[in-house]
Amino acid sequence: MLHLQKIAQRETPRRLSQSALRISQSRTRRGFATASEPYEVIVIGGGPGGYVAAIKAAQLGLKTACIEKRGALGGTCLNVGCIPSKAMLNNSHMYHQAQHDMQRRGIDVSGVSLNLSTMLKAKDDAVTGLTKGVEFLFKQNKVDYIKGSASFVSPTTISVALNDGGETQVETKNVIIATGSEVAPFPGGGIVIDEEQIVSSTGALSLQKVPEKMVVIGGGVIGLELGSVWSRLGADVTVVEFLGGIGGAGIDEEVAKQFQRNLTKQGLKFKLNTKVLSAEKENGKVVLKTEAAKGGKEETLDADVVLVSVGRRPYVTGLNIEAVGLEMDNKGRIVIDDQFNTSVKNVKCIGDVTFGPMLAHKAEEEGIAAVEYIKSGHGHVNYHAIPAVVYTHPEVAWVGKNEQELKAAGVQYSIGKFNFTANSRAKTNLDTDGFVKIITEKETDRIIGVHIMGPNAGEMISEGVLAMEYGASAEDVARTCHAHPTLSEAFKEAAMAAYSKAIHQ
Ligand SMILES: Cc1cc2nc3c(=O)[nH]c(=O)nc-3n(C[C@H](O)[C@H](O)[C@H](O)COP(=O)(O)OP(=O)(O)OC[C@H]3O[C@@H](n4cnc5c(N)ncnc54)[C@H](O)[C@@H]3O)c2cc1C
Repeated sequence: MLHLQKIAQRETPRRLSQSALRISQSRTRRGFATASEPYEVIVIGGGPGGYVAAIKAAQLGLKTACIEKRGALGGTCLNVGCIPSKAMLNNSHMYHQAQHDMQRRGIDVSGVSLNLSTMLKAKDDAVTGLTKGVEFLFKQNKVDYIKGSASFVSPTTISVALNDGGETQVETKNVIIATGSEVAPFPGGGIVIDEEQIVSSTGALSLQKVPEKMVVIGGGVIGLELGSVWSRLGADVTVVEFLGGIGGAGIDEEVAKQFQRNLTKQGLKFKLNTKVLSAEKENGKVVLKTEAAKGGKEETLDADVVLVSVGRRPYVTGLNIEAVGLEMDNKGRIVIDDQFNTSVKNVKCIGDVTFGPMLAHKAEEEGIAAVEYIKSGHGHVNYHAIPAVVYTHPEVAWVGKNEQELKAAGVQYSIGKFNFTANSRAKTNLDTDGFVKIITEKETDRIIGVHIMGPNAGEMISEGVLAMEYGASAEDVARTCHAHPTLSEAFKEAAMAAYSKAIHQ
């Protein structure tokens, strides 16, 4: 109590509001946040890494708080990432199907029209439902949820500027930093995002009108997903990509090529090996200047909306890492060892703000492992078996090594491939674009990579992840009974093809 009064006295311009004081007082009365009885774990950031870590810590009996400044739990993923983008992808796909795909199925529909505000509301409702759900899980697991912005005073003392006003300090034995990432600005800073005409992924999730023409800068996962959404809703979408292929890091080149052909059939246009030089607003439009990536040929494009989708960068703003001297690398990531330890004792770090792919499920795995290290000294994340998914239609998903990586490393491998055109369920569903490709180590038949383009690839990839997690061979999978008729039979047949021959192809 004395401690809180001291802070209140110190605060002249940012005095503790009555409600903040009440929260802090009640916490202190309940025995939280005092120097004599510190938390065992404080998690900074309530995204998929942070909230999962906090719940796990509480489940393991550790007194835990999670500090989140957004005003809602779930981080980038639930609020402006995975969840809203998938809501828009699902519903725009249905709209597109109603317009272009129903007739051949014997369903005559007429008068199909878009109610964009209802579609956006459905997305917002999904977000609210899920973020509230995480808040409920915090209550259920007795995690203290502190709404405010955290900054280090020392490795064991965290100051929180409360969202309701005022400030408090909490003491802890361990900290897990899970502050995530933010949209990376356009390299060189020449393009200014206004979230109306020149938007990041966040703005692209809430456009109030379907743009006539849209240019997406960056043909990675987020650019392709959001480009697909607005293309299905009626925009003329051009994707400009510096590299010679789409899909971003890790995608198998054979998949990327067929994926591009599919998206092109759906109406997306691609300018590969092309560098955007500038994008400026002129007479209600955005005018972009581009040139060939290797230099030379210049071109001008115009658009109603430009999506800048050139990646994300680690986020540590306001954390006051200088106070504790955390080591960062030259990409702004917090440096950790293989047990998530930072350079500061008892401070761990997980998720987008440190190494590895910026994916929600990777952050979640790390959250659990980091807490297990705190509790028992043991934890585990298998970085060879982290799946990646592009939620377009068809979906693209992969895990493990791709062909170009294996060639570069000089690894001898075998391939088993099975096309969905030969899969009975895909044929029944009139949804046959794509294939399953399983890569095995030649000598041992062990599965070292799985690449799928096709309906529900994002669900099916889990079979590949499980196989890799347990060190399965292609023969192991091929001899496992798969229900008929299912898309997953294509997975079994690809495994058969990898070590022997497929039956149906
Ligand atoms: C459009 C889009 C689509 C995506 N789709 C997918 C997908 O389909 N699948 C997938 O796996 N990944 C997807 N991602 C990536 C995914 O969202 C991130 O990898 C994931 O959210 C990272 O989790 P995190 O917990 O590390 O950080 P975040 O989710 O970024 O959470 C960090 C939280 O910390 C809070 N915070 C930061 N600093 C402080 C502070 N000082 N005090 C208090 N709180 C603080 C932030 O407010 C934030 O809420 C997508 C991202 C975007 C942008």
